[in-house]
Amino acid sequence: MRMQASNIKSLKSDNRALILDEIRKTPCSRAQLAETTHLTRSAITMIVQELIEEDILKETQALHSGRGRRQVLLDIVDDHKLALGLSLHRQEITVVLTDLRCRQIEKTSKLTRAFAGISNGEAVVGDRADGADGVLEWAQDAMQGMITRHGLKRSDLVGVGISSPGPLRLSEGLILEPIDFPLFHNYPVVAKVQDCHFMFADDTEDLVNSDHDARAALNVSLDNNAVLLAMRELYQVAGQIARHRHILFVTISRGIGSCLINNGQIYRGAAGYAGELGHTSINSTGRPCSCGNFGCLERYATLQELKNFFGFDSYEVVVDLAYNGISKTIAIIEQIAEWLSAALVNAVNLFDLDAVVIYGELNYRPQLLMDMIRKRVNQRSLISRAHQVEVYASGYDDKTAAEASTAGIIDAWFKQKF
Ligand SMILES: [Zn+2]
Repeated sequence: MRMQASNIKSLKSDNRALILDEIRKTPCSRAQLAETTHLTRSAITMIVQELIEEDILKETQALHSGRGRRQVLLDIVDDHKLALGLSLHRQEITVVLTDLRCRQIEKTSKLTRAFAGISNGEAVVGDRADGADGVLEWAQDAMQGMITRHGLKRSDLVGVGISSPGPLRLSEGLILEPIDFPLFHNYPVVAKVQDCHFMFADDTEDLVNSDHDARAALNVSLDNNAVLLAMRELYQVAGQIARHRHILFVTISRGIGSCLINNGQIYRGAAGYAGELGHTSINSTGRPCSCGNFGCLERYATLQELKNFFGFDSYEVVVDLAYNGISKTIAIIEQIAEWLSAALVNAVNLFDLDAVVIYGELNYRPQLLMDMIRKRVNQRSLISRAHQVEVYASGYDDKTAAEASTAGIIDAWFKQKF
């Protein structure tokens, strides 16, 4: 049977994606690639050679393997391409330029309330207060500045990634109605970014003077910020979580979001809204939540709720005192662990997780809190009778959240989706 040319092309692209996907998690040898991808050695040799010639892969340090032989490892050329990111957050709007590992090259931010026309409850004077379109206008200027300053060609970019609180309708690139984020209600953010005109170093005069339609459109992707943070953690850090396949990634930052990694893949649910751990109830007669439920985790375990409840100003001080053995502050950390564990035990029992990763505003000296949570989760979940459930603090500082906005568009590029 003759294979269609298009089938061969897509098979080749699938194999390239397989190889890139492995190497970006951790540098590996050609022999290791053959094992993990189940491709033939000759196919791997050929594709790797191509990827090296295209400057996507590089050969890196030779390691001595068990038998004393030198081994050449393959790694990603981090700045082979770059990505622009637009991070929409309740506090701050950020535009970022990153390499293929979501590492910041340049970043600029502006307070969200400046666009919403509110500053400490007062109307902003002398600043733009023109809503979501104003955000896009500002973001376009910021992105153009980065493109110009770095002399980027159109082909230097994988595209633009956008992160936003959910719920989102991913198929339409639409932000629906995130709680406490009215600026972007029912906003077609992907179409708006696709409509932005950018000028690149390799755009010729003719092109600059012609219609926008004549230029190749940039790839634009939108995703939930918890999903993007999880993707960055999963794909960019070859560390302790790399050995787990069933992970709940929890973000605590104003609200509480989560992303379920099911057998190494992101679990989306029926319509892409999966992972609202913050709106699972830990007390059916508890505090009312704006989602309509009672006793939602988010009403207990965010920094603001904790400050309101316990009356402390600085979480760092509470944690420092707890490490010094001050019983009152240890009790606060215990209570936080108690609330988080109540929700996490439910999640572990439902999905048979082998790891939980916690990211965000409670990750100051997180070992004490993580130990308390790990103990509870393993004492109280049925699953832990079959296997241990690990609880980790994320390796990322929550000040680097905006950089994760490029994780989705980079992931699509590594998977050779365009
Ligand atoms: Zn709720």
